[in-house]
Amino acid sequence: MLSIKRVPTVVSNYQKEETGEAAAAGGCGRNCLKSCCIQDARLPLYAFKRGEKVGGKELPLLGCKKHPVDFLDSLVLGEWEDRMQRGLFRYDVTTCETKVIPGKYGFIAQLNEGRHLKKRPTEFRVDKVLQPFDENKFNFTKVGQEEVLFQLEASNDGEAQFFPNVPIDVENSPSFVAINVSPIEYGHVLLIPQIFECLPQRIDHASFLLALQMAAEARNPYFRLGYNSLGAFATINHLHFQAYYLALPFPIEKAPTKKIAKLSGGVKISKLLNYPVRGLVFEGGHSLEGLANVVSEACICLQLNNIPYNILISDCGRQIFLLPQCYAEKQALGEVSAELLETQVNPAVWEISGHLVLKREKDYEEASEANACRLLAEVSLSEERFQESHCSCFSSHCIG
Ligand SMILES: [Zn+2]
Repeated sequence: MLSIKRVPTVVSNYQKEETGEAAAAGGCGRNCLKSCCIQDARLPLYAFKRGEKVGGKELPLLGCKKHPVDFLDSLVLGEWEDRMQRGLFRYDVTTCETKVIPGKYGFIAQLNEGRHLKKRPTEFRVDKVLQPFDENKFNFTKVGQEEVLFQLEASNDGEAQFFPNVPIDVENSPSFVAINVSPIEYGHVLLIPQIFECLPQRIDHASFLLALQMAAEARNPYFRLGYNSLGAFATINHLHFQAYYLALPFPIEKAPTKKIAKLSGGVKISKLLNYPVRGLVFEGGHSLEGLANVVSEACICLQLNNIPYNILISDCGRQIFLLPQCYAEKQALGEVSAELLETQVNPAVWEISGHLVLKREKDYEEASEANACRLLAEVSLSEERFQESHCSCFSSHCIG
């Protein structure tokens, strides 16, 4: 079994060893999301307008244009800032230094020393993309209610709705938006689909559609969602997406592409060109649902083939990057240079997209395009394996 000691980043203030303290009266004393504490809990609920065919228009024509009231956007940021005021984050991300690395890609480097503190080693199996949910490991039902910002769902009556204070209907499998207590940017949140279903970290159609709907509903081009599979630097095996605001283009979004297929539903599939990590780009289609289905099929195929991958959702849910990777595999096989390992940078979705979160001042000072490319080159599948991976998943329209 390939297994390495990893130092996962803490995403919740409750992600630590169980203290073994006796349960306090009125719950376990941690105000968590389990049956001990959930009965009387209330949270805001945002219900977005269900994804119809957007007036029959092709999605690309809609653009990320500003809406008069971008309610979801304001809700995420308002609630996030409230949690910052309440001191729930482990450090102040707004003081982290960021710079654009000179060069053709425009990699963005951030010095984030706080993210790495108070680490605890965890055995994490990195050679299996699909692993069952393990109730005994940290999962999002163990976070404190104060870390949850609101519930998110599709509206039943065709209009977006907001309820500031509603009970949590555990039976109805609500999806939650929560803070990441180790943010890497402003507004860093987690989307946890159907939290009480305790789904393992794997893509399914409905959850992926929810992520696209959140991106579309936020209507803010700076807001991107990301996903890391197991084996591609997910640190928690409980289904979740990450999201944050970055007021810069990600280098991957600027990379040239070559079209390899256009599907009957209008979805265009391209491959990245001249980018250090090989990957596919999915765009267009007649509905968000159609686009979500194509991408989730591809993800499910990668999962079944045990190929770890990362996803970046850009352009308000209309552009999706799918990046199979093999860094953890190389790491386990001892094929990654000591120099790269020393940086302890885990190449997850943000790093692969070109936003490098560096843990040591030295690496930040010395950050260069060459260094970034060296790291990302280790992440990428070889041309041969990349072809294999997407041919097995898109055999019907595989073009060399
Ligand atoms: Zn509790």
